[in-house]
Amino acid sequence: MVKSISVLGCTGSIGRQTIAVAEHTGIPVVALTANRKIDMLEEQARRLHPKFVAVYDPEAAKAFQIAVADTDIQVGTGMEGLIHAATMAETDCVVTAVSGAVGLKPTLAAIDEKKRIALANKETLVCAGDIVMARAAERGAEIVPVDSEHSAIFQCLMGREKGELRKILLTGSGGPFRGKARSELENVTPEQAVKHPNWSMGAKISVDSATMMNKGLEFVEAMHLFGVSPDDIQVVIHPQSVIHSMVELVDGTVIAQLGVPDMGLPIQLALTYPQRCPSMFSRLDFTTLQNLSFEAPDYEKTPCLKLAMDCARLGGTAPCVMSAANEVAVGMFLHHRLGYNRIYDAAASAVERVGVVKDPDLETILAADAAARAFVLENFSK
Ligand code: MG
Repeated sequence: MVKSISVLGCTGSIGRQTIAVAEHTGIPVVALTANRKIDMLEEQARRLHPKFVAVYDPEAAKAFQIAVADTDIQVGTGMEGLIHAATMAETDCVVTAVSGAVGLKPTLAAIDEKKRIALANKETLVCAGDIVMARAAERGAEIVPVDSEHSAIFQCLMGREKGELRKILLTGSGGPFRGKARSELENVTPEQAVKHPNWSMGAKISVDSATMMNKGLEFVEAMHLFGVSPDDIQVVIHPQSVIHSMVELVDGTVIAQLGVPDMGLPIQLALTYPQRCPSMFSRLDFTTLQNLSFEAPDYEKTPCLKLAMDCARLGGTAPCVMSAANEVAVGMFLHHRLGYNRIYDAAASAVERVGVVKDPDLETILAADAAARAFVLENFSK
């Protein structure tokens, strides 16, 4: 079990749930970071008494500093602030719950300091999986996934040898529009897209779950995290979200991890691993479970999933360009500035037009991320 944590992105959905788990398990929170939601941040800071708080936005950081002037909390800002929160001597584990490529540098800095990474930022592995995994292996830093699917796979592989794995069965609910053709989704509103049938999540990831880009990003992440090729991962649609993913071993045995769909569970395990401790979450009741069903994904209806799998095979900067373009497009959709089906169009044409660089270094990755964002803003703004 970790002794203390830094929570990067503490005002988002995962950040808030992480704080709830930390309070339940009694793990001290020594640093918090947020972008600019300073009202919520102040409330969290006064409750948790962290040593350090970083507010990414410099103006918001000034306002926050004034708001907590009566406390001894140190305040930082910008990338420097995030990196400090991730590398402080007092922190044992960094929960990376920020969204976007902004999580990359602090994660690498934390790895260099041998902190445990409770990984909740998808872009870290989607954009820089090769660099991050190599650095973690070199420094001996643990990466424990927080995403429910990857946590499930991680749990199914506990105590297994690498050679025992035949394939990963990555499950996904199919989202709120499962089975719907693209032509039926032309006029989908943000309100409809963020209503996930099983999971309660932030707006961006909820839209990604609807388009199944989320499953695509998870596909790329799984490849890096577990050191497998795209051919070793099969996506399985499982609408009830009771099985959180499975592994098939060489002898044909399948091991699954089941639980209630609550992100608190994988968050808690990432902090207590290798131990387990009682949790505050509800339990599965097999006497009331109606059925568990499974189907193959329909790539015609979910082109974002297909695009992500193609980008996983392309490698280099392709997944990063796709993910950055998607993030901007989803933001535009949520502000009613882009149609639902255009999210895929934006991501696909960014991959085609921005171009792919093989074996990129960190600066090349960040440049590709910026180029993809600019491309979508320029070509898809109404
Ligand atoms: Mg997930």
